[in-house]
Amino acid sequence: MDHFLYRDGALHAEDVPVSDIAKAVGTPFYVYSTATLLRHFHLFDDALDGLDHLVCYAMKAASNQAILKTLAQAGAGMDVVSGGEYRRAKAAGVPGDRIVFSGVGKTAAEIRLALEGGIRQFNVESEPEMEVLNATAVAMGKVAPITIRVNPDVDAKTHAKIATGKSENKFGIPIARAREVYALAASLPGLEVIGIDVHIGSQLTDLAPFELAYQKVAELTGVLRADGHTIRRLDLGGGLGIPYARDNQAPPLPVDYGALVKRTLGHLGCEIEIEPGRLIAGNAGLMVSEVIYLKSGEGRDFLIIDGAMNDLIRPAMYEAYHDIIPVTEPAPGVEQVKYDIVGPVCESGDTFAKQRMMPPVAAGALVAFRSAGAYGAVMSSEYNSRPLIPEVLVNKDQFAVIRRRPTFDEMINRDTIPEWL
Ligand SMILES: *Cc1c(COP(=O)(O)O)cnc(C)c1O
Repeated sequence: MDHFLYRDGALHAEDVPVSDIAKAVGTPFYVYSTATLLRHFHLFDDALDGLDHLVCYAMKAASNQAILKTLAQAGAGMDVVSGGEYRRAKAAGVPGDRIVFSGVGKTAAEIRLALEGGIRQFNVESEPEMEVLNATAVAMGKVAPITIRVNPDVDAKTHAKIATGKSENKFGIPIARAREVYALAASLPGLEVIGIDVHIGSQLTDLAPFELAYQKVAELTGVLRADGHTIRRLDLGGGLGIPYARDNQAPPLPVDYGALVKRTLGHLGCEIEIEPGRLIAGNAGLMVSEVIYLKSGEGRDFLIIDGAMNDLIRPAMYEAYHDIIPVTEPAPGVEQVKYDIVGPVCESGDTFAKQRMMPPVAAGALVAFRSAGAYGAVMSSEYNSRPLIPEVLVNKDQFAVIRRRPTFDEMINRDTIPEWL
């Protein structure tokens, strides 16, 4: 459920007409709903009610300071995957003891940054990383709390580019080697083993792969405890999918996921951490764009819009589907037409949808991409020298620009010309 609905014939973000925002900031732009962000955070938080737990928002999904602050004020921790994200989380006021550091390639500098600023735990993904973390912590006179990310070799049944829990993926250590790697960790004076981490992929539309993975984690908890390790925290990753196409069957709800966590792991007496990203931010954001031209081709009509693959790369990168709807509500019973919906970038991959049925729109009309809040703005670039598009946050009847569109001069002047030219 989200808070982008037609009201009096016009698409609204909460109580604000989307066309008002377009007038104020120009197109294209992203707009997020505070109510939807908070609703999704609370769905997860409530689903784990009764367990000692922390919901750590995977901020790589959408990392604007205003979004982080909104969620942090509601009680969310943060899952970060780079020094930049760590700095963003701190800048938004998130205390170090609510920040979890994930990722396969943490550098010594990033590790130092987090040890200095405070960290809830590092989710360690390899033995070489463990050695660097240990050496860095010892040199700083600190002890780093860690979980080790295990790869349970479970097929998440999602797009290949976002599956992370198969043995062929670069993530974690094979679960079969866990005892050996935990023994190494326990021998290193700069590390304190506190638990286990697992994250099998993103946009999962079925609970079965989670269940398989969590059963393996439960079993491993017993084995590692018998080996003498303290396992008091389980980080279960993120990955629950969202309905991108409204007529498709909806993925499982957070409440069902929470029940699964309780059923498979609730008896272990561990603190539970989860790291949802997409399900918190995905349906909390739209990308809004204006139709530039309607171009008739050989047997097909192209809707050429001012948003492009550099602004929203998911269709080009993951063959992702987004609902695309007119901002002015179509008349009831209007006959749908078929468009190829494309951006202006000079790549055939700059295609958002092929042969898409939707209500007819004309040049100058606004269209909204639904479910664009996660992995949207954060993955944008300035390809084709198109400045990054603005982000706007709505809260009831108010809206604010939370990242403005850079000027062309700002974009160009980031380059510097060598003296010899
Ligand atoms: C990307 C990622 C997440 C979030 O995944 P979603 O599908 O957005 O919920 C959580 N944990 C880790 C380690 C990740 O890399």
